[in-house]
Amino acid sequence: MRCPYCGANDDKVVDSRVAEEGAAIRRRRECLGCARRYTTYERVEELPIVVVKRAGVREPFDREKLLSGIERAAHGRLTDEAVVTLVGEIEEELRAGGPELATDQIGLAVLERLRALDPVAYLRFASVYKGFEDLADFEREVTELQKNTAPKRRD
Ligand SMILES: [Zn+2]
Repeated sequence: MRCPYCGANDDKVVDSRVAEEGAAIRRRRECLGCARRYTTYERVEELPIVVVKRAGVREPFDREKLLSGIERAAHGRLTDEAVVTLVGEIEEELRAGGPELATDQIGLAVLERLRALDPVAYLRFASVYKGFEDLADFEREVTELQKNTAPKRRD
């Protein structure tokens, strides 16, 4: 590790301990060039999520793409903060699901959560995701939505 003070590349570890509740190892190092001490942290590298598309093509999970898709659907319906939180939750769920995911798993994870949050954002996302082609597709989805949604409270 290069010394942040003098730039020398020789050091010795003088202390190692668990940090961040086990998520990291903290090491105190002493530079053999200038004898000053500094700290480094070692963490597990996050594994990339791989998306397997319908044609079998694999590509890395694109968080930005997911975010912009949800932003478009949620425009004027959910706050930016709610959208970012939603994307974070979905990403966490996907990460737990394994290093490889089918495109459909992502779409369904989004639909499930949007349905609980906001029916309009849900329908917008569903119409793009499911490729609604006419009014009948849309009406069928609205019927499904009504079946699965508790009656609205009146405030
Ligand atoms: Zn040094």
